[in-house]
Amino acid sequence: MAKRDYYEVLGVSKDASQDEIKKAYRKLAMKYHPDRNPGDKEAEEKFKEAAEAYEVLSDPDKRAKYDRFGHGGLKGDPSFHGFTDINDIFSHFSDIFGGSFGGGGSIFDDFFGGGRSSAHSSTRRATGTPGSDLRITLKLTLEEIAKGTTKKVKLKRYEVCDVCGGTGASSPSAFKTCQVCGGSGEIRQVSRSIFGQFVNIAPCKNCNGTGKVISDPCKKCKGEGRIYTEATININVPPGVTDNSYMTLRGEGNAGKNGGPAGDIIVIFKELPHEYFIREGDNIIYNLYLSYPELVLGTEVEVPTLSGRAKLKIEPGLQPGKYLKMREKGIPHLHSHGAGDQLVKVNVHVPKHINSRERELLKELSKMPNIQAPR
Ligand SMILES: [Zn+2]
Ligand SMILES: [Zn+2]
Repeated sequence: MAKRDYYEVLGVSKDASQDEIKKAYRKLAMKYHPDRNPGDKEAEEKFKEAAEAYEVLSDPDKRAKYDRFGHGGLKGDPSFHGFTDINDIFSHFSDIFGGSFGGGGSIFDDFFGGGRSSAHSSTRRATGTPGSDLRITLKLTLEEIAKGTTKKVKLKRYEVCDVCGGTGASSPSAFKTCQVCGGSGEIRQVSRSIFGQFVNIAPCKNCNGTGKVISDPCKKCKGEGRIYTEATININVPPGVTDNSYMTLRGEGNAGKNGGPAGDIIVIFKELPHEYFIREGDNIIYNLYLSYPELVLGTEVEVPTLSGRAKLKIEPGLQPGKYLKMREKGIPHLHSHGAGDQLVKVNVHVPKHINSRERELLKELSKMPNIQAPR
């Protein structure tokens, strides 16, 4: 997808002042803030897009490059950050979000008088930096969906360092008092914003609010408390999941830095097209082709189902276009007992090529009084 123009993203003119740009960004950051749009991926993208636009336009140097060369002007610029992890945005623009990790308070406190309760505000009290989520797409056949399945998936993720147990320190005593906050773990900031002056108490970024910093980092993880490694996980898929739905594996994502809480794995299910079944909700539709004599005389046929072949009785005189119901032969309901049905649509097989003997017989047959169509 083409990158949108940064001015367009923020909704400001090319000659907008720094103040206008900041105001425009605050408005968007509020609107698309993850705390106000939990689980909304579109809002998250907008939130990131606005952050990137603000990063460039709020910096005179980057803005000048962008004005002259467009998006290409920032390629390879080491000071250009861009945002893939939402938590980065909070720490990067601490003047906007109040200098705290994982969700930041002040932008909301200004408007709603504080007192939020969300996953973000609870994680920011914890030590370390939270790990990010991972997304996995799992392709499933209809048969796997019908029965449920367990899938082994190989992936790369951050895991807690086994040497230091996630602390990032070479030993439990390899810590010293943080010089930035003097050990309190808090930074008191008096700041002026477009809403007036306010005092903001935020966890110290240098020590992540712990009041201590590592004096001798762990050799294996170099002080991060986590290592990037390959892992194999088993994903249990319950019967009856739907295409594009997703499941969250709590705490299975990237380990946090320095003992921070792990992110989640979000498993997105993709249903593979089936050779002959069409899914409609929990029902599956099968197109059955019968010859004209079979429809007139009745017969018994074998049809495929999700659990093997099954016999189906065709009553004499069955009309094409009808559906025959094979009870509970469809997809199990995900949230209740029972299953959908297999619906067998009755079609007539009309041959395109016939030999002379067949032509003769059909001609003769077509003259019979009960065979002729009324019109
Ligand atoms: Zn370590
Ligand atoms: Zn500190």
